[in-house]
Amino acid sequence: MDNASLQLNEIATAIKGCQLCRLCEGRTNAVPGTGPVTAEVVFIGEGPGKNEDEQGIPFCGASGKFLDELLESILLSRDDIFITNIVKCRPPANRDPLPDEKQICSETYLDKQLALIKPKLIVTLGRHALNYFIPDIKISEVHGQPKRFKGQVYLGLYHPAVALYNGGMRQTLRDDFIKIPKILEKI
Ligand code: URA
Repeated sequence: MDNASLQLNEIATAIKGCQLCRLCEGRTNAVPGTGPVTAEVVFIGEGPGKNEDEQGIPFCGASGKFLDELLESILLSRDDIFITNIVKCRPPANRDPLPDEKQICSETYLDKQLALIKPKLIVTLGRHALNYFIPDIKISEVHGQPKRFKGQVYLGLYHPAVALYNGGMRQTLRDDFIKIPKILEKI
């Protein structure tokens, strides 16, 4: 295994034993993320839900199923990309992650994962991930539009869970998603 993959594994090991915030108290499994260190695209959600907490794998429930469908529509599979979350442990009763939880977790782990992977494109799923990188930007105003910020290109998308109870959003996500190959070509 190459050095960068080893380092990514070391971060995953640290996440699994992490006790830096209160979210460790309720977890079954921490969810470090999946995918190769060579991924050109990193997808970042909000935090693990019930299924993810049980299995230790990101987006393995209903919204993950829709995410897989979206990936398939642009001929990508999970083996090509890295998927992770802003917080790596499930917030109790799926509440929003709190500001200190997001900050501690992302600064300690996500920033290091991204420094190793060096993705061409970061796709944020939902407002928590988008606003971690670009504060004060509204997802309703920028979704589907690539944004270069401090040298990194981001694409803000709605969270696939929203599409589960809002049919219109389902199509919006599909329409935004199919822009990804062209965006990658241009970077
Ligand atoms: N929702 C998220 O934001 N992340 C997951 O991993 C699953 C559901």
